Amino acid sequence: MPDQILSEMAIFESPDFDAHEQVVFACDPAAGLRAIIAIHDTTLGPALGGCRIWKYTSEGAAVRDALRLSAGMSHKAALAGLDLGGGKAVIMADSRTEKTPAMMRAFGRTVERLAGRYITAEDVGCAVADMDAVGEETEHVAGVSGGAGDPSPFTARGVFLSMQEAVKRRLGRSLEGVRVSVKGLGNVGEQLCRQLHAAGAEIVVSDIRADAVAAAQADLGCGSVPVEEAAFIECDVFAPCALGAELNAESIPKIRAGIVCGAANNLLSTPADDARVAEAGILYCPDYLVNAGGLISVARRTLSLSEAQVNAKVDEIPATLGRIIDEAAATGKPTGAVADAHARARFRG
Ligand code: NAD
Repeated sequence: MPDQILSEMAIFESPDFDAHEQVVFACDPAAGLRAIIAIHDTTLGPALGGCRIWKYTSEGAAVRDALRLSAGMSHKAALAGLDLGGGKAVIMADSRTEKTPAMMRAFGRTVERLAGRYITAEDVGCAVADMDAVGEETEHVAGVSGGAGDPSPFTARGVFLSMQEAVKRRLGRSLEGVRVSVKGLGNVGEQLCRQLHAAGAEIVVSDIRADAVAAAQADLGCGSVPVEEAAFIECDVFAPCALGAELNAESIPKIRAGIVCGAANNLLSTPADDARVAEAGILYCPDYLVNAGGLISVARRTLSLSEAQVNAKVDEIPATLGRIIDEAAATGKPTGAVADAHARARFRG
């Protein structure tokens, strides 16, 4: 039986395993903690990445999430020009019913044992108060009270500037009058809509929260569509700001927007969808590049960045995107592959 369990996990052979430096399984029965911390690569610096608290259906699903998310963080930091590595933690628990300060402190002790190789922060299921509890046990934590604050304005700005760049290159125009479908009106999507509105874009919104849609209609005069239609309406730009995996074999042939540029992570459902979206004539703006503003702001304390330096790094995102679009056009490679190659060149040389 133990052999069977181990072979089912098959971590080193898993397609999500990318020569990760270290994967830590942490357990504290008294605190109800079962966590996995994946440190992908620390060539550029300590591995910074959030802690996700999620009721995974299996241990394998939790390991896969930690492996994928941590590798994503290495790529995101590298392409944003940050001297940081990539890591991510997952805690296997229901954040609403099982999370306790004792659990977060136990997680903090695990982070402390890694002696700064991994720096944690908020992710799904975590709030500032949780990071404060973690901070009682370790200093290797970003996102505590009085720290960098809400990263979403920086994320929204990076997405907005990237969209401006993509529209300029693809359509040869400003955002004025450009029709954008924004799916997801949370912290990032709502602020993105405000910036698009100020730039004169025609906005069509969608969210599973009717109140958020009503507010966008009332405040900004946005149109709206049901969530299941958001990706497929006639528009210039589709901006997914809710969930990942929006670009897949089924959705891509139905997308009518010429540009996809949004905040959601892991927009490509599988690696093959990178080429698929390019072949469909759609300009995909790599998610981890355009949404890096939040990481840049969270990294502020770790890298001792001034406010001006944080803003300057966010403002560099569209120029990086422009280079990737140009290289993809010149080489015939998909934009995601070009972005990956640039990021990996920084940490895997
Ligand atoms: P959020 O939780 O504040 O907002 C998500 C919104 O999406 C909510 O309004 C929710 O109701 C809506 N939503 C959920 N499922 C939906 C569906 N099926 N269809 C339509 N709407 C749906 O999250 P956020 O902080 O705004 O982040 C948005 C996305 O960007 C997430 O995927 C997040 O991982 C990613 N991201 C966020 C940041 C950041 O700084 N907040 C940074 C990088 C990436």
